[in-house]
Amino acid sequence: MKHTPTIAIIGASRGIGLELVRQYATAQWCVHATTRTPNSPGALATITGNVHLHRADVRDPDPARALLDVLDDAPLDVLIHNAGIKDSGHSRDEVMHVNATAPIITAEALLAALSKSADPRLVLMSSQLGARRGTSARLGTYGESKAALNDAFRMHAPVWHTHGITAIVMHPGWVQTDMGGAGAPVSVHDSAKGIRNVVDGLVAGDHGKFLTWLGDEHPW
Ligand code: NAP
Repeated sequence: MKHTPTIAIIGASRGIGLELVRQYATAQWCVHATTRTPNSPGALATITGNVHLHRADVRDPDPARALLDVLDDAPLDVLIHNAGIKDSGHSRDEVMHVNATAPIITAEALLAALSKSADPRLVLMSSQLGARRGTSARLGTYGESKAALNDAFRMHAPVWHTHGITAIVMHPGWVQTDMGGAGAPVSVHDSAKGIRNVVDGLVAGDHGKFLTWLGDEHPW
């Protein structure tokens, strides 16, 4: 039987994550989408296709639990950890945990499922604001958290590669979402389309890179 390509998108209720669910579902993928509120899924409920909703709050100690329970022995081809928060309204600890620690915890939890794929790919959503070149205190805890994510990624990525996984961190563009604001230059459609193109084109040699939604390497 032909394998249906399978993706898990962590943090899919709105913004870039939601649009990724829409586009992967349209492309006939099996999509496991996580939201903190699966009982009131909002716009996620309007997406048709092979889409499965699971509860995940990445502040929980074992955020991938619900996903792992349903994946069972099925291979996971792509994992995109998209959930993220900005500084306003959140404590420093929360921003650091959601943006820097949780992606690593989730990736580690799903390594075994990824390893069952013939071509496993892992994307952690970072930001150009996590690049150390040009950063300053004005970028606040958000920039610091994404820099910490990039650092943690570079520590873990060599081990992930021994599992056969091609892993990258991604700058999705400055995107028109609740986080990016209406004045951002990139639409959610174009960002998600670009991210999908990058994921489609990933080869083993891309492992460990910091890439933009256009596929360019971003300086660390
Ligand atoms: P967004 O519109 O604010 O959406 C954020 C998503 O993360 C929502 O689905 C949200 O779920 C989820 N999330 C937040 N806290 C969570 C938690 N504790 N557990 C699980 N999910 C949680 O943001 P976006 O613009 O789409 O950004 C997506 C990613 O791209 C983020 O990592 C962001 O840092 C990064 N990024 C964005 C931009 C930009 O310009 N937009 C630029 C660079 C990088 P709820 O609905 O439950 O809150």
